[in-house]
Amino acid sequence: TPLISCLLPSFRHRLHPPIWKLLQTAAQQAHQRGWHLYLVGGAVRDLLLAPGEETLTLQDIDLVVDGFHRAADVGAGVELANQLQEIYPQVRLSVHGEFQTAALIWHKDAQLGSLMIDIATARTEFYPYPAANPQVEASSIRQDLYRRDFTINALAVRLTSPREGELLDFFGGVEDLRSQQIRVLHANSFIEDPTRIYRAVRFAVRLGFKIDPHTEDYIRYAICSGVYDRLRLENHPAPALTTRLRAELTYILEAAYWKPALQLLSNLGALRCLHSNLVLDANLWWQIRFVSRWLKCLDSENHFSHWLIRLEVLIAALKPDEREQIAANLQLPKDSIERLRDLEKIENSVQQNLKKCDKISEIFLLLRQYKVPSLIIVAARSDRLERHRIWQYLTKWSKIQTFLDGNDLKAMGYKPGPQFKQILDQLLIATLDGEIMNREESVEFVTNITEKTAQKL
Ligand code: ATP
Repeated sequence: TPLISCLLPSFRHRLHPPIWKLLQTAAQQAHQRGWHLYLVGGAVRDLLLAPGEETLTLQDIDLVVDGFHRAADVGAGVELANQLQEIYPQVRLSVHGEFQTAALIWHKDAQLGSLMIDIATARTEFYPYPAANPQVEASSIRQDLYRRDFTINALAVRLTSPREGELLDFFGGVEDLRSQQIRVLHANSFIEDPTRIYRAVRFAVRLGFKIDPHTEDYIRYAICSGVYDRLRLENHPAPALTTRLRAELTYILEAAYWKPALQLLSNLGALRCLHSNLVLDANLWWQIRFVSRWLKCLDSENHFSHWLIRLEVLIAALKPDEREQIAANLQLPKDSIERLRDLEKIENSVQQNLKKCDKISEIFLLLRQYKVPSLIIVAARSDRLERHRIWQYLTKWSKIQTFLDGNDLKAMGYKPGPQFKQILDQLLIATLDGEIMNREESVEFVTNITEKTAQKL
């Protein structure tokens, strides 16, 4: 029997009124068809977690339709979504055939803001009892919730009458919210879906919860029993699994809490899913923090995906001939795969040549062949001298400009052409090396070199 408490009055005031109205409309539509409608998943968890009276800005809402007098038809969720689209014509509707779920998407709507509502149909194959029995009513929603990852994500609030506003808590989710525990619903949970290990870590760190000791045992057992062999990227896992793994990795590496999350993943042995040899040792941990620090300073406007570069640093710890494959299996973007493919070459070139450079211009000419993210990764993996030079290059020398540009050369009477680039390059080299300090010296320099070339001709 679920723990049921009447939640509706407080719940109503916590939602933005247009969202509340939308949920009510959806509930009426479901009710007219003899279905129940439930709010489930993260929204219920967050409503219960957020203190006080503040209004919650929900952007992702999960709804489940369930039968009232009989099991709902497989297509009930889709039908309800279609009906809502008629009422809210500005919404975009997309249907995922495989699980018969529908997504309603509002993008910067004047009333609802940016909102995504997933509507699924409670999945039950068999409905064994007479219809009016309330226990039966609850049985398919119960099954639907039982398929979920953690008790705190397996709570539901009934939106349809009768008994609207009831909180359904079959697995002790409310108590786990209170005692701040991440707990699975059954021992096989991680065997069924290894990406849940990443989700457990994500929720634990994000909410400041503990992973319940039994759940942690199940995680370790699942990892020891080779659950990651299915997922391991060197083994070409199923694309659907890698997509989900990638999504979880992205969430974790993107989040402000990525450091404790990565450490927890590593402590649990969960980084082994990326590659059986991947270990977050002190050196790699240092490298990844180093890269993040540099990215914060050098790319405060986030032109690069910082999370992706963090992931590249992890992959870079593997053997050079394995990196590209892992990145491709993980479906990383093209430029990221290329960076990992070329890393060894760039790293060798930078590490061998950088220490031989005497002049700033030599460093500049060497490093300007490479893009900033590659240089940052190489810096993290290099010695102090190289690191220092790459830093100087990125923060100072790459920004130095000549005192003259193409227009100035034209004004000096030179004809535009390929020699312009050569002159400007020479000018830049002399400027970088401090041989030219101002405009006048630049004009003199250009006159000198062009005279010399003319003499040679
Ligand atoms: P967030 O605030 O991060 O979006 P959420 O709980 O809404 O949290 P989603 O990933 O959007 O997380 O998933 C919605 C719901 O679907 C979850 O609350 C959970 O009940 C269920 N769920 C998602 N992924 C899994 C999974 N791998 N295994 C079981 N249930 C899952």
